Amino acid sequence: MFRWRPSEYAYLGCGHTYLGRGRVGLGRGHVNTYWCEHAWLPDGPAESVAITVDGERIVSVERDAPKTGTVLDGMVTPGFANVHSHAFHRALRGRTHGDGGTFWTWRDRMYAVAERLDPESYYRLARAVYAEMALAGYTSVGEFHYLHHGPRGARYDDPNAMSHALAAAAADAGIRLTLLDTCYLTASVDGGALDAVQQRFSDGDADAWASRLDAFKPEQRLVRVGAAVHSVRAVPAEQIPTVAGWADGREAPLHAHVSEQRAENDACLTVHGTTPTALLAKAGALGERFVGVHATHLTDKDIGLLGSVEAGACFCPTTERDLGDGIGSGGDLAAAGVRLSLGSDSQAVIDPFEELRGLEMDERLAHESRGHFDPVELMAAATRHSAIGWDGLGELVPGAAADLVRIARDSVRTTGSEPLGVPLCATAADVRDVMVAGRWLVRDGRHQSFDDHAAAPATELATEIESLLA
Ligand SMILES: [Zn+2]
Repeated sequence: MFRWRPSEYAYLGCGHTYLGRGRVGLGRGHVNTYWCEHAWLPDGPAESVAITVDGERIVSVERDAPKTGTVLDGMVTPGFANVHSHAFHRALRGRTHGDGGTFWTWRDRMYAVAERLDPESYYRLARAVYAEMALAGYTSVGEFHYLHHGPRGARYDDPNAMSHALAAAAADAGIRLTLLDTCYLTASVDGGALDAVQQRFSDGDADAWASRLDAFKPEQRLVRVGAAVHSVRAVPAEQIPTVAGWADGREAPLHAHVSEQRAENDACLTVHGTTPTALLAKAGALGERFVGVHATHLTDKDIGLLGSVEAGACFCPTTERDLGDGIGSGGDLAAAGVRLSLGSDSQAVIDPFEELRGLEMDERLAHESRGHFDPVELMAAATRHSAIGWDGLGELVPGAAADLVRIARDSVRTTGSEPLGVPLCATAADVRDVMVAGRWLVRDGRHQSFDDHAAAPATELATEIESLLA
């Protein structure tokens, strides 16, 4: 069996406290030069690139460099950003296809998992899910977190116990985390009462949500905090400004599920006479730090509203097709000035290449034509860490954080491709090495925080999913 080796912080299962272990292998002044056969620079792939890393940062990037230092074959890219995640949905992968159903019947299955999680089991499951993300090349994740409280809404001794579990899970899996603490108060746009499972999500009102969040002080170095309005279904219009104000006051990212399903739009029009995007705009939620998640069924006016404030939109193509949500207007949003990012959302698939391909391929299907986003634009969307509050990350340039991914160019999937086409044909299985903040987290396809067991994250996932669904 394998044994988990905590990378930075050890989680002490009882009492929900964490023991800082200090930095590991991050000494400043520790300079390494990596010579990359090909590297993905801001304007696209380049040959023979020397990247020098000092501690956690890239200090120089040289094109056409002589072979020196550590040689990295294949294609080196910036780390990928997983801007929208619900870690626990991973338990449902491959378990919801047998009997058809709808988004709403899928949600019932998801709630059945949510019902069973506690801080200890969520820590273990999330640690394995985040390890899977790291193996796929993600170096940051935005966790849209609303499973705050115990069964029927009972408060844990520390009301942020679930948040601490996620922070510890990310730290031990070695991935950067933005915990997007999500306000969730009602079951429907007209203020319907929460059902038994949903009571775990609610703080009662937005002020209580803000007070709880103010008390959450994660100690892990690679963990940050942001805010989220679950959706216009789950936060009454008059309480949205409290959540938006919390994010404004801290210059933190603010996310919301927006128009994922037509039913949400219909209900919002019936109750408020306006679309979810317009309602969020009226409540003061839109701005540069706002990210509308999915943004599938938008009107032209919605797209204009988001573009006018240079807001973001996070598409989750593998989840949107899995749930039958529909195809968003990626091209129109980008043309309006909206910054696109990508997320694995329900974890039906954890593969940044599949998400970035989905952005382009969905446009092709919708418009019956090719060439809407070029590979450089797709990679920019797939590495937009700023959407979850990590600036100075996602480009191989001097001064950026040293998050690197090495992709094999000699696998059966990637061989024969020109460098520019690598992101369009690679899969997560082609990710060989991953560096986060100057430290190798994955080497030759193996997560370095597991002892001598290449399949350890899979073993851990199997154990946790089996016990959750037993
Ligand atoms: Zn979501």
